[in-house]
Amino acid sequence: MLSLKTCSFCGGSVNLGEGTLLVRNDGSINWYCSSKCRKSSVFLKRDPRRFKWTTITRQAREKRKEKKKEKKKATRRDG
Ligand SMILES: [Zn+2]
Repeated sequence: MLSLKTCSFCGGSVNLGEGTLLVRNDGSINWYCSSKCRKSSVFLKRDPRRFKWTTITRQAREKRKEKKKEKKKATRRDG
């Protein structure tokens, strides 16, 4: 079943009945899909952009690949 919740660290979907919810004193709500994401964010204070397995970095990598392809197509000459 689909859920609208997304992990605050990796950006993946959080299934119903899974994951952990963290509510801070200032009222902000963070959902985490796994203990890996929770520990990375809360205790280790990691930046999700520095890891290959987060959706943020995956999207950035795909964008870079598309840009490279476009550049190759633009420079190719026929004849
Ligand atoms: Zn996650």
